[in-house]
Amino acid sequence: MLLLEEKIKTAGRVLNDNVLKVDSFLNHQIDPKLMNEIGKEFAARFSQEGVTKIVTLESSGIAPAVMAGLYMNVPVIFARKRKSLTLVDNLLSASVHSFTKNETNEISISNKYLTQDDTVLIIDDFLANGEAALGLAEIVRQSGAKIAGIGIVIEKSFQPGADKLKEQGLRVESLARIASLTNGEVTFIKEKVEELI
Ligand code: 5GP
Repeated sequence: MLLLEEKIKTAGRVLNDNVLKVDSFLNHQIDPKLMNEIGKEFAARFSQEGVTKIVTLESSGIAPAVMAGLYMNVPVIFARKRKSLTLVDNLLSASVHSFTKNETNEISISNKYLTQDDTVLIIDDFLANGEAALGLAEIVRQSGAKIAGIGIVIEKSFQPGADKLKEQGLRVESLARIASLTNGEVTFIKEKVEELI
């Protein structure tokens, strides 16, 4: 998605060879117009899958997931990373090791909002080692729902997450794919011409 690549080039900051900071439009301050385009793009890519729910992880997955939910006309559920006093009954949970925080969280969703009749699109902001997406996929499987695929805003393709998800037979659609972050520079994977048409 060219608009997103341009934004990453102009507003992203390479922290080191493995981490990209996008606090000015996705992870702290949010660019609503860009999120709108991202939502539209996810909706287009998964339009044939019969998606009934979107599942994401708090907090940075919520903005792109809500915009996709708006275009797909389906509800959005975000998994919580911390225990909540109000979210106690019948939890579907998975253990997820955070790439950026280097801590393990139990992520949870109430089973009230997912059933075996659902077809779920999983959305997240970044894909690195795949822990977050695999945890979300595990939760969806616990509910008996079907997984339509995984929508990622920024995939760091030099890390193993995308391959791990594809090995499980999951469809991964990433709107920007980064080949490397070396020398303080973002290099994108060149998309094949057919994919751009
Ligand atoms: P994974 O679980 O795939 O290893 O990492 C994905 C999660 O870690 C995302 O939900 C995201 O919050 C965070 N993350 C991973 N890599 C980056 C990065 O380069 N920059 C930022 N801002 N977050 C990242």
